[in-house]
Amino acid sequence: MSVVLHVDLDALAANLAEIRRRVAPALHMLVVKDDAYGHGLEPVVQRAWTEGVKWFGAFDVRTGYIVRAALGPEARIFVWMVGSIDEVRDALHEDLDIGVGDLGLLEDIATARRPAAARVHLKIDTGLHRNGVRPEEWPAFVARAAQLEHDGAIEVVGVWSHIAEASEADDDDAREAFDAALSVARDAGLRPSMRHLAASAAAFDRPEFRYDAVRVGAFAYGIRPAGGPDETELGIRPIARLSASVIETDPVVRIDATSLHGLPSSLGGRVTLGSPSGPRRLIALDTTGGSIEGEGASLVGEEITVYGPSGDGAGSATTLAEAVGTIGEEIALRLSPLVPRVYSD
Ligand SMILES: *Cc1c(COP(=O)(O)O)cnc(C)c1O
Repeated sequence: MSVVLHVDLDALAANLAEIRRRVAPALHMLVVKDDAYGHGLEPVVQRAWTEGVKWFGAFDVRTGYIVRAALGPEARIFVWMVGSIDEVRDALHEDLDIGVGDLGLLEDIATARRPAAARVHLKIDTGLHRNGVRPEEWPAFVARAAQLEHDGAIEVVGVWSHIAEASEADDDDAREAFDAALSVARDAGLRPSMRHLAASAAAFDRPEFRYDAVRVGAFAYGIRPAGGPDETELGIRPIARLSASVIETDPVVRIDATSLHGLPSSLGGRVTLGSPSGPRRLIALDTTGGSIEGEGASLVGEEITVYGPSGDGAGSATTLAEAVGTIGEEIALRLSPLVPRVYSD
């Protein structure tokens, strides 16, 4: 196994503790979409559950399923990408909480309900225009939801939205729109116990964005924002280290990168990797391998850190991302599912 993602579940636990400390009394909903940001869904949710995380943001129904199977009936699992009526039925069957951003879906859920009321979180569009009910349609939407709740078809557990976290002013406008929507919902007779708006950045920085819960993914995995504060400042650390072995030392030192082809080749010449004998410059990266500086100083089989927690000279996934103008999530998610994930705790 030449290319391996080493996932440190103790580091995950430490990040979860820091998130809890920062956002309390708001709850932390751990976002686990995209295979827990490429770290491997089941080991991540199992450890998080042991650490006391009760809410999981799964994004799609399939991911919700896997979390339900891994954690059992007590876990609260939120999905917000529910397409077909079959998916609605599946989500209700698995007792998933469903994010609802349009009236058609709300009616489908009410029709497909099981004996128990369907748990829904109503989504207001606060400016991102990535689904969500537009403010002008919100009063009629919440009035219908209140009626369906009264009939026992649904339970309005939450009201939520998503913000860009790119500019404070835009986020402030979004929060104002969110507060207005909450008050309209309240006037319609709804009493949602889960009001949630913030993801990682706003959850840490801006207390007034926390409401009842925050949906934090990136920071739990130790992925910091590109161009933002570093991990030490945030009190988090990367939970994964990607390593690749030296496969050749003559004429140049080459690392096996056949499984790294998801990483941008433009990283070549722009980043430093880690090795037992210190930092090594990545000279080039292509589909079959990468060349690194340090002729003769490396041995075949030596383990090179492509990214990970600082220590041996490598940067984090976000450091790599910054070198090529993207974000850490993009680096983490591009890693092929064929790369073995190895867990330690
Ligand atoms: C991905 C996602 C999050 C988590 O964002 P991070 O910045 O990774 O914490 C929260 N909410 C929604 C709707 C998302 O899609």
